[in-house]
Amino acid sequence: MKRTLEDIDVKGKKVLIRVDYNVPLNGNLKITNDKRIVSTIPTLRYLLNENAAVVIMAHLGRPKGKVVPEMSLMPVSVRLGELLGKPVKFVGGGCVGVESKKAANNLAPGEILLLENLRFHPEEEGRSKSGEKNSVAMEAFAKELASMGEVFIQDAFGTVHRSHASTVGVVKYVKDRAVGFLVEKELKFLREVLENPKRPFLAILGGSKVSDKIDVIENLLDKVDAIIIGGAMAYSFLKSCGISMGTSLVENDKLDLSVSLFKKAEGKKVDFLLPVDHVITSKIDFLNKNVPNGAIVKTTLNEMIPDGFMGVDIGLRSIDKFSEIIRSAKTIVWNGPLGVFEVGDFSKGTIEVAKLVAEVTDKGAISIVGGGDSVAAVEKAGVDKRMSYISTGGGAFLKFLEGKELPGIVSMPNK
Ligand code: AMP
Repeated sequence: MKRTLEDIDVKGKKVLIRVDYNVPLNGNLKITNDKRIVSTIPTLRYLLNENAAVVIMAHLGRPKGKVVPEMSLMPVSVRLGELLGKPVKFVGGGCVGVESKKAANNLAPGEILLLENLRFHPEEEGRSKSGEKNSVAMEAFAKELASMGEVFIQDAFGTVHRSHASTVGVVKYVKDRAVGFLVEKELKFLREVLENPKRPFLAILGGSKVSDKIDVIENLLDKVDAIIIGGAMAYSFLKSCGISMGTSLVENDKLDLSVSLFKKAEGKKVDFLLPVDHVITSKIDFLNKNVPNGAIVKTTLNEMIPDGFMGVDIGLRSIDKFSEIIRSAKTIVWNGPLGVFEVGDFSKGTIEVAKLVAEVTDKGAISIVGGGDSVAAVEKAGVDKRMSYISTGGGAFLKFLEGKELPGIVSMPNK
């Protein structure tokens, strides 16, 4: 068990906290979804109640070590101020510039400062100003950040799978450290589910590539009773059984691996469920996520996809088949949509599965959903509030399912 916020003394102290404020912005730099900001409020309120002076570190987007004005955290500071009902100080320029350091030094107990985007500095991700890997530059940057607090709180679950200056580097320069309430909650839910699941335990995996999720499947095969595979991932598995998949997204170099995962599932007596029919189209515009004029869309009679067509969703018979196993599950972990759910015509499979997972959760099953697209899908289905837990981590959630260590967690002290 990791040391948490309540295990250490933060009263009146200067607290440096890493959070995940990587929120979506529209063309007018308006935040279109503030969930990530909202999820940090319990920790921040606790710190403010303890009269701490709070210095927040965060990143936004991928500015690749350069100052990109559209990726400034300024809009986040405004939204955070609204949510907390008190002003949030913000200094533009850079998170370790003279002005930021001055603002951090002068911060009074009960005040809050948001530092500018960490990733405007290449050192955050372990590179020098010229872009080469450079651990010395990273250390120096981490030390600068650490000089702005007496206590370090890790509450950015979305970035704990990264070994960056603000997630791992600062740790050795700040003596008092603990995880915040969000990270504590994520670890509690994910550990409980993976270590002590109520059975039957079902994993639902979808998305575009098998290659991204091989390690997740490998690890889960040791833990679950059943796996449902949907999305384009399913096509590589079906093709490895000699079934033609038309022009569907197939990873031909992963067919042998698909066969070995099948065999492992068989050996472990894990039910391995693939779609038995598909929604297919002769054309799709992946870039604009729409169906071009003149496209022929239909549903297959069985697993096979004819030449000139690609699979874009699971069919009704697959939904029926999957519904049985979902209804009997007591624990469900879900990552990845079962079709191109961004296109209305191809979202039915994902939406129906989301509704089924909500239905069994209402009846007492535990459901955990993680990954940007899967979370967007349960929101689109209008059932997000009915899931037991929605993880704030995409990459970190997958790493956890892979059974891998998360550097930003490993580096934090135990109780
Ligand atoms: P991932 O990031 O691997 O979870 O993949 C999510 C993406 O997979 C979404 O953008 C979906 O549109 C895409 N996807 C799901 N099913 C399919 C499919 N049958 N063909 C192509 N892309 C798909």
